[in-house]
Order: sequence, then C-alpha cells, then structure tokens
Amino acid sequence: MKKLYHPRYVEMGSQFVEGIGILVDGGNIAQVGPVAELAASHPDATCVDWGRYAVLPGTVNAHNHSFQSLLRGIAADEPFLVWRDEALYRYAPCLDAQMIYNGALFAFAEMMLAGVTTVADFFYIHDNGTENDEAVIQAAKDLGIRFVMARTMYDWPGAPKSYQERIEDAVRRTRELAVKYQGDAMVAIHPAPHSPHAASPEMIQAGHRLAQELGTPYHIHVAEEMFEVEEILQNHAVRPVHFLDKLGVLDESMIAIHLVWLADDEIQLLGKRKASLAYCPSSNMFLADGITKIPELLHSGVRICLGTDGACSNNRISVFEEMRMTSLLQKVRTLDATSIRATDTYGMGTHAAGEILRLPIGKLEPGYRADFVAIDLDDLSLHPCAPDLLLAHVVYSMQPTAIKRVVVGGQEVVRDGELQMVSNARVRKAVTEVQERFAQVTSVT
Ligand SMILES: [Zn+2]
Repeated sequence: MKKLYHPRYVEMGSQFVEGIGILVDGGNIAQVGPVAELAASHPDATCVDWGRYAVLPGTVNAHNHSFQSLLRGIAADEPFLVWRDEALYRYAPCLDAQMIYNGALFAFAEMMLAGVTTVADFFYIHDNGTENDEAVIQAAKDLGIRFVMARTMYDWPGAPKSYQERIEDAVRRTRELAVKYQGDAMVAIHPAPHSPHAASPEMIQAGHRLAQELGTPYHIHVAEEMFEVEEILQNHAVRPVHFLDKLGVLDESMIAIHLVWLADDEIQLLGKRKASLAYCPSSNMFLADGITKIPELLHSGVRICLGTDGACSNNRISVFEEMRMTSLLQKVRTLDATSIRATDTYGMGTHAAGEILRLPIGKLEPGYRADFVAIDLDDLSLHPCAPDLLLAHVVYSMQPTAIKRVVVGGQEVVRDGELQMVSNARVRKAVTEVQERFAQVTSVT
C-alpha cells in the first residue's frame, strides 16, 4: 500500500524544505519530491496531510544496554567501579529471559517516544545460550523498532557468570543468530567483543573474523576509563588502540564505543584505518569518564555516530539529547563555539549512523527505509519558527513534547505520546513486575 506524506517541511541535506512529499511503498521510501507531482503520478497513494509537522529521519541510537533501564537510579552519583558493582553486577545475574524482555520493552519504548527508530543494543547477559538474546529481539519486534543486536562476546572471568562464554560458543551462537535473521529488514546481528579489558585477545580476533565472514561491522568498548588504558599498558606495554592494531582488528569494520582516553597518535591511527566511533557524551559525563576529542577525531577521518549508553548511566535515553550534549560539551572543552556545529551532531544522530551500521537508514531519500519522525511546529520549543532555524532548534532547543509521530518501516509506531503496537500501560506494568522481583532478590541477600 502506497502512502504519500505531505508535511509542512521535509529535511533534505540538512535543510528544511517546503512543498515536498514523501512517497512510501511498503517499508521503504519510494520517492521524495514536489508533492503535486507525486500526487499526480501516484493517484493510488493514500494522502497523509501533515501540515502541522516537519519531518526528519528517525534517530539512531548506536549504543545502548537495554536491561540497564531497569537499574535506573541505582548507584547514581557513584564512581564507575562502585556503580558497576552495585548496579550492574548485583542485579544482572538475577535477570531471567522474561525480565530481560521487560527491560528491553521499557528501554525501546522510551527511546521510540523520544524519536529513535533504530537501536543497537550491546547485549551481554547470554546465560550460555540465545534465549535471552531472542527475548530482546522479540521486544523490539513487538514494539516495531528497527533493531541491531551487538551480540557481546565476553570471557573475562571477573564478570558475572551469565556474561561469560567460551570463544567457540560465542562465535557459534552469534553466527546462528545472524544466519537466522538474515533477510529480516527489522533485525541485524553484529559481533561485539566487549572490550580489550573484558575480552581476551583471541575473543576480540574471533569477533573481528566473524564480522568479516558476515559482512557486518563489529562493536567494542575502547578506552572509556583511565584504568582500562593503564591495564592494557601494564599487560601489553602499548595503549589500547595500538594493542587492537597489533591484533589486526583495527579497520573500517570497527565501531569503537567511547574512545575517551586517547593519545594523539591513536587518534591519527583510528582515522587512517577508517574506524568509527559510537559516542555517548551524557554517559561519559554521568560516570565522570572524561571528554572524547570529537573535533580531532572527525578531522583525522573517524566517522562518528551517537549512543545513549544504558539508561542507568545517562539517565535519559534520547538521541536528540545526545546531539545537544555533543555540541555543548565539545564547545566548552575547546573554548571554541565553532569547533562543532548543529549540522555535525545532527548528522551523527541520523545518516552517519546509517553508514556506520551499514543500513539504509538516516536519510529521507528513495531506497532508504521509511523511518521518520514528525515534529509539531506548534510546539513552543521550535519557535521562533522558520525553515532556516529548524535544524538548530532540533539540536539545541527541541523538547520531547514536539515529537508527535514516529514511523518505522512505513508503520506508525508512536502517535501523540502513545505507542501504537504495545500500550504505554503495558510497558509500565512490565517495569513494575521486575521491580517486584528485585524486591524479593534484595530481601534475601
Ligand atoms: Zn556500553
């Protein structure tokens, strides 16, 4: 069934343009152009009058840990290692597949209401199987969000048992899932060796090899905290980026998360090898990690997309928020208001993420998935309203109240603050159920 959307403005090449229609056929954008022409050449299309809205691509959350939404508020204002032990390591081991499903439902629902249409979930509670992975995938399918599972490969013995896998099991299970979902436009599976400190060199190389075999990128946390750099220096006598380069895994398939603590030559090497970064500024601030050198990384040739990270280290879960945070944080770090612009961070939250994840998303162009967000031009946070001001408003002033419609694969999944495929009330109930289970766990420990 064809639909012709006619909003007041459509974002094209970072400009908001009037008089443009978007023709959606099935799950994809078929044509974008003058609305009168599209209407004349496609009389069979259903017209959708969105005269009060401006339309932009759905945002892409390139790094999240969905179950962490259930831990929001626990161990806030603590140092990283205390936060990790009191929140993550305490509660994660008691999560079963149902609780993991509920957590994913919660996280994805909240981000969809904030205009996220694709999420990459870096998921590691495998419990020696794929049942939990399937629970997360099911939550994404039930809500209608496009989903990338960055399936974590973890073999550091200091972590909870439910995270750890033998290398051959991690590879086999990740491959099986990838093969199962091949050809599913809503789901992609990417290998994700956890980090140089929580995955062995052999595990990292196995993850990289599997990504080559599957034709996907791979995800890995790199240099989030200073202690990680010191650990790699101590154990391997090189800094993390050089360590990864020596392993032969530093190339255009790498999506590094964080990259906070880098020496200048590491920045240059990342650019030279065409690696990418999933940047999570709010989480880096929340955990007092430090500040990634974004303008320098861009300059060296590193491609950058944005992530919220888990909702217990942010604690919001919106990519529009991360666009704003990226801009503000880099401006104050460099003491230069021109060091990064709204168009840069807007691109990181949309089309750059599509390129990095190798998915046809993040642009309103023919051949791309019909994933978009309609924002309400009557919302005061978008005023003074003019097409040439709108992009700056989206990054700097827009409030969530402006986000009225969210469409994924041609299907409306959010309307006026209400999820359309699973009710908001059902999501709240899912969270309460887990809270009750947590209360039982903590009363016996
Ligand atoms: Zn992470």
